[in-house]
Amino acid sequence: MNSKIWLSSPHMGGNEQKYINEAFAENWVAPLGPNVNGFEEDLEKFLGQDSKVAALSAGTAALHLALVECGVEYGDEVICQSMTFSASANPIAYCGGIPVFVDSEPETWNMCPKALKEAIEDRIQKGKKPKAIIVVHLYGMPAKMDEIIAVAKEFNIELIEDAAEALGSTYKNQPCGTFGRFGILSFNGNKIITTSGGGALACKTQEDKDKTVFLSTQARDNAPHYQHSHIGFNYRMSNIVAGIGRGQMEVLKDRVEARRSMHDFYVDLFKNIDGVTVFSESSSDFYSNHWLSAIIVDPSIVGKTREDLRLAFLEDNIESRPLWKPMHLQPIFANAPYYGTNVSEKLFGDGLCLPSGSNLSEDEKVRIAKVVNDFFGN
Ligand SMILES: *Cc1c(COP(=O)(O)O)cnc(C)c1O
Repeated sequence: MNSKIWLSSPHMGGNEQKYINEAFAENWVAPLGPNVNGFEEDLEKFLGQDSKVAALSAGTAALHLALVECGVEYGDEVICQSMTFSASANPIAYCGGIPVFVDSEPETWNMCPKALKEAIEDRIQKGKKPKAIIVVHLYGMPAKMDEIIAVAKEFNIELIEDAAEALGSTYKNQPCGTFGRFGILSFNGNKIITTSGGGALACKTQEDKDKTVFLSTQARDNAPHYQHSHIGFNYRMSNIVAGIGRGQMEVLKDRVEARRSMHDFYVDLFKNIDGVTVFSESSSDFYSNHWLSAIIVDPSIVGKTREDLRLAFLEDNIESRPLWKPMHLQPIFANAPYYGTNVSEKLFGDGLCLPSGSNLSEDEKVRIAKVVNDFFGN
């Protein structure tokens, strides 16, 4: 059996263990220390825009704290992009809130500004203004931020960016994660850089960052004893994990380049295949890190489905995966309100994510190309 080709696997840079060894040498084996501070500074420098970043235990934790800081409480409604990973929506439920799902538009596959506006107007008419909007930059592709921000401003609703997949992506030259009041980052094992598991919350103000650190370390008031006037969380990043992050930040630019060149590889591979579209930027306003490369297979032209292609890859021990199944189609969210047409359903029906790692070898690319060419009879 051929060795497995993964959709997206960890790719160490080389200096990660150096930072971990320093932590051991100085006994900073704790959820604070020089690596946590250093990793935060690296991220702040990378994002620019005067961002203030708090390193946390996961992207999901970052989103949970963002919602808490936006004042989301029991019974509150929060608008969330439907086409996404469940971790974009679950923290709404952690707060006792109700997700209101919004469809995608076909260019970026992200939140449709028109459907967003309809959703807000209808929720207000039904008696409740949503407390926050969660927009996602899916697979690294920036959402239509100008339009989304305009709607958020019009109705004066807090904007949270789920940039878990979009570190290194920009919209009109501004980094994803720096547009909303909060931006979520993830360093899970499959992301563009990883700390094995971890996340961060990019904030606009020092005050929001301080609040995030305070809440993530059990909300201890300033007193010699343990004194609490808020519900706290244990969400801070470990100094060991942050050491991996510092090593990964040294190679982030290379990783973005490599992922983007995987996208170019697929554009070339599919250029003469009718009925297959490679997910690409619709204009120079959008710069995707192409965390995952994805295609749409039109079965009416190809005569076969994306599922047939997935199985052909599997035959050769190559991992590929359908796009995120929209949240409004998930059993757990079956009763949540939904606004849109059927853009995300259609994408889910015909879309497939392809191996996109920054560490794929030339031999592995040859194997991928062979499966594709055999499948399409090239
Ligand atoms: C990975 C991911 C998350 C969650 O991040 P974790 O660090 O795994 O908790 C949230 N949203 C999206 C879109 C993701 O891809």
